[in-house]
Parts: sequence; structure tokens; C-alpha cells
Amino acid sequence: MSRVALRTRRLAPTAIPKPCQRAPSLIQRTKSLQPWLAQVRAFQSTVHLSEERTRSPTANPHPPLSSYSKSLSNIAFAFDIDGVLYRGGQGIPGAREMLRSIRSKNMRYVFLTNGGGAHEDAKVASLSERLGLSLDEDVIRDRVILSHTPMRGWADEVKKQTVLITGSHPETARKIANEYGFERAITPADLIHANGNLYPFDNLKDSLHSAFRPLPDGKSAAAVKDPYSKDIASDAIKIDQILVWNDPRDWSLDIQVIHDLLVSHRGYLGTLSPNNGNRALPNNGWQQDGQPELWISNLDLVWKTEYPVNRFGTGAFLEALRGVWLAVTNGAELQYNALGKPSQFTYDYAHTRLLQYYSTMAAGKEGSGGLHATPLKRVYMIGDNPESDIRGANEYCPEDGTEWVSILVRTGVWTETVAEREPRYKPGVIVDDVIDGIVWALRNEGVDVNRDTLLAGGR
Ligand SMILES: [Mg+2]
Repeated sequence: MSRVALRTRRLAPTAIPKPCQRAPSLIQRTKSLQPWLAQVRAFQSTVHLSEERTRSPTANPHPPLSSYSKSLSNIAFAFDIDGVLYRGGQGIPGAREMLRSIRSKNMRYVFLTNGGGAHEDAKVASLSERLGLSLDEDVIRDRVILSHTPMRGWADEVKKQTVLITGSHPETARKIANEYGFERAITPADLIHANGNLYPFDNLKDSLHSAFRPLPDGKSAAAVKDPYSKDIASDAIKIDQILVWNDPRDWSLDIQVIHDLLVSHRGYLGTLSPNNGNRALPNNGWQQDGQPELWISNLDLVWKTEYPVNRFGTGAFLEALRGVWLAVTNGAELQYNALGKPSQFTYDYAHTRLLQYYSTMAAGKEGSGGLHATPLKRVYMIGDNPESDIRGANEYCPEDGTEWVSILVRTGVWTETVAEREPRYKPGVIVDDVIDGIVWALRNEGVDVNRDTLLAGGR
């Protein structure tokens, strides 16, 4: 039996109330996505509160789970994946049966992960395999939201721009971006193959960077000769957005290329902005000349594998980039936008998916506009990372008034230590594992359930 299963459990009966105040958005600079956000919030505000939502859950009798499925249609779950449903290649014991249980009761849930770099269908396949679920079972599919999945909803005019995309496997990221609708996605490999002087090292050219494509529309990465010339050649490549899809592998090249674009004039590769260092301008002139916007798909500094020490994630790459930027600019702020948890943008996307859940499932695939919304009372976010899962849920206040409640599990990155007795962002409850998290949530809704009920796998 696992360590988790042997632990004594005490489950608090009610959630810790949270003040619902919108936190400052991590998406501060961009204007291009505001129409999408406005559309999402307008959709959420059309969902009316049901009478049932205002009823105290603790005043209800406690029927067993089998007789409760109808009134549980107004609650939902958002599961983090790494450290919650599996660690490394190993599924958390009982997670499979628990998921089958809540699926059999037709409860709503999504998988909300800061993982990325692969297609959603690939994540469905790997999660199913690690949990020992068949792809034929309707337990995982169409419910996975990766860190970059919200980019599917970006405006067409943004998708038509030229974007630089990088990540653990840039060519894979580009193919996914193409499928999302980004027509002009280029990778760092395209640039170093188009201009060997851009990065004078060949170490990974035949391995990580071996897949490349010609730059779009015959553009060149070697057209600029004078970095301050106002007369920019018509074939010079211009980048409009920088998308860090997930944690890059070649930090050296990626930091170099991203730096070059952030110091450029309007994103033309090889140019230098005359505004750089101008103290009369905001941020001393850095990133004040129409440079591309920088998007980081998640801020996770570390993640949990089977290795005993936490591993660096995309947030660690960001810290490295930020350190170089500080040194180069003599202390200027690195301006960027963050997706993934804890960003409100990602929670908005997940919340909308949960509102549309039943009509999406009925359609058998993900949909967008025109789907029917079913009101929600509470969403339970179950995660292992206080900085992303817990913070995001605590700070998220959707327009329709649904309450998001955070549940922290002990199977992932957070562990109680002498130095850190409590997580920095406090959850509604801390539980041993995801099964206890569901038990706590259902009891909070007035359902007399225990681990055995859930581990029966929906029977
Ligand atoms: Mg996690």
C-alpha cells in the first residue's frame, strides 16, 4: 500500500470562504486579446444563478453518491495533472477509479495543466496510458487544457501575424500552432539556418535544430546591415509576437534571439531601437518601440517527477531571461504576458469550457461560440502547486459569481518543511491525495461519501 493510502485523514466539512476580488491581471500590455476576454466575460455574465446555488450545502441531508448525481450538476472539478494524477510515469493510486466514479455520475471536470509542447490529443493519450485507462473510455478525452490551449481562441488578426515560437520541441510546437490557426509561425532553427552569423555555434544544429523551414514570403534574416538605419529592406523579417510554448531546451539560443527582438526597432531582426536606454521614456526606453509582445505559456519554476529533487520548468527559463535582461538593460523591467495557471486568462478559458461542458460533450468535441451554458455553483481546483494551482483558484472570480475553491494535495511539489510550514498561497484545504480532495469537496456539497465509494470506480 502506498504512503498516501496509509496516512490518517481528517477532512474538514466546509470550505474556507475567500474574498472574491479580482487580482491584477498578468496580462497587462496587450490590447490584441481584450476583445476575446470581453467576449468570455459577457458569456459568463449571461449565466443566471439557480435557486439551488443559494442554498446552504450543509443544510442538505446526506444521500449516497448514487442518488445525488442530478444536484451535483452545478459543481465541477479542475484537476492539475503532474503531481496530482501522476508523478513521472506513475499514476497516483486510485486516481483512475476516482475519475471513473465521477464520470459515471456525469459530473463536470477538466484537466487544467501548465504542461504543454504537445497536442491536446497526445496529452490525452499519455494521461490515459499512465492511469491505465483505455482511449475508448470517455474519461479523459476533450477535457484537457494545456498551457497554450487558450491560444486557440485568439483573434484571427493575431493568428495572421508572424510569430516566433519556441519550446522543448520547437518544430512540434510550430505544427500545433499551425493547427491552432497561426499561419506564419517561425522557429529559432529557421533563423539560424537562414543566417549562420545570427548564432555562431553549431552544437545543436544537426539535432535539436535540424528541422527548419524557409522564412515565409521569401523574407530574409540577413537583410539588415546597419542596425540603426531607418531604411529597412523590404525583405527583412519582422516578428510580431514571441510565444514561449513550454520550457525550451536551448536556453542560450532562445535567450539570444528573444533579446534581439526585444531590443529591435518594431521587431525587425537585426535592428536596434533608438529608444533603448532613453531615460525620458517609460522603462528607460526599453520595449517602447513596437517590439513584439513576449508570451510565456506558464510561470512554473519547478515541477515534480520521480526524481527526488524538483525539476526546473518554464518559469526557470523566464528567470534566466529576466536575469540577462536586467544585466543588458542596467535594470529595466522585462515586460511580458503570462498564460497558464495562475493567470486569469487561463481560468477564464477553463471556466467557460466547464460552463459549456454538457453541450460540448453532447457534440463530442470542443466547441466555441453558440454553445449552451449550464450554470455552476462551485468549482474545485485540485492541484499540487501553491504558486499556480492554488493562487489562481483563490484569485479567480468569474463574472457569473461561481465560487472557485482550491484544494492542495501532498503528492506533488509542495511538502511541509521546517522552513515552510504552510504554503505561501493558502488553499481551502490540504489533503493527502486527489481522492481525499474529491471526498472533501463532495462532503462540502452534502454528500456522504468516502474513499471506498470513489475507489469502487463508479460501480
Ligand atoms: Mg502540478
